[in-house]
Amino acid sequence: MQVATTILQARALFDVLPRPLGFVPTMGALHEGHLALVRRAREESTTVGASIFINPLQFGANEDLEKYPRDIEADRAKFSAAGVDVLFLPNQAVMYPPDFSTAVDAGEMGTRFEGAARPTHFRGVTTVVSKLLNIVRPDTLYLGQKDAQQTAVLRRMIRDLDIPTHVTIVPTEREADGLALSSRNVYLSVEERQAAPSLHHALQALRMAMQMGKSKADAVAAARTRLDPLAQLDYLDVVDANTFAPIDVLSPPAFVIGAARFGSTRLLDNLWIE
Ligand code: AMP
Repeated sequence: MQVATTILQARALFDVLPRPLGFVPTMGALHEGHLALVRRAREESTTVGASIFINPLQFGANEDLEKYPRDIEADRAKFSAAGVDVLFLPNQAVMYPPDFSTAVDAGEMGTRFEGAARPTHFRGVTTVVSKLLNIVRPDTLYLGQKDAQQTAVLRRMIRDLDIPTHVTIVPTEREADGLALSSRNVYLSVEERQAAPSLHHALQALRMAMQMGKSKADAVAAARTRLDPLAQLDYLDVVDANTFAPIDVLSPPAFVIGAARFGSTRLLDNLWIE
């Protein structure tokens, strides 16, 4: 695995390696969810690129930027073993020099749900992914369904800005008890870890109730009863998969989505409805 730390180094490598080029952007602290993206990219591409960059623009002022888990040596070994050809590992000064001033606005879709809870989050995501796509110029971008709203926002950005990259969404990797893998799961206490899969169970109940034709209010009420008392619910809802607008009557493709805090750790999850 070759490692590029500057934009010039990254371009020099990505421009000459054989295509198709699949690309997996991450913030590191790698787990099996990230590696599922790499495996899919490996199956479908001649060259696989990945990046690790903890993007300050997508963190709010009171969020976990400083304590976000970092383990760069372990991450390098995992990416290398999974078959990544080139790892782009920029620092903040490379991505955001002191006079950096442009941002990509995620529009209305970026104001709902995660965007309501974290008002500058999606603008940070769209801005950094625009930069990464311009540096790497991949044929296919691999994203995890775990961050469903992020996939919808980025698909829309790529379409709206005519970026010549295909997007592939990879299903969510889970622990045996249903908890979606996340770099933030390491923050959970023993009790919170036991309570955390209840978000997944609530979403399963919500999806089943909607598929049985219950009203959304009844379906959400039924789903809430599945949440562990430790969970502080942020939202549970049913949305159109493409617009992320809430829907009352199921019209697939759709997602049931949820976010809840377990202690100080905020977890997200969703299920796809075809
Ligand atoms: P992150 O490092 O959290 O920014 O995530 C990098 C990529 O991995 C994003 O496309 C995520 O959606 C994806 N990802 C994170 N967790 C999972 C998971 N449990 N299963 C599949 N993909 C995931």
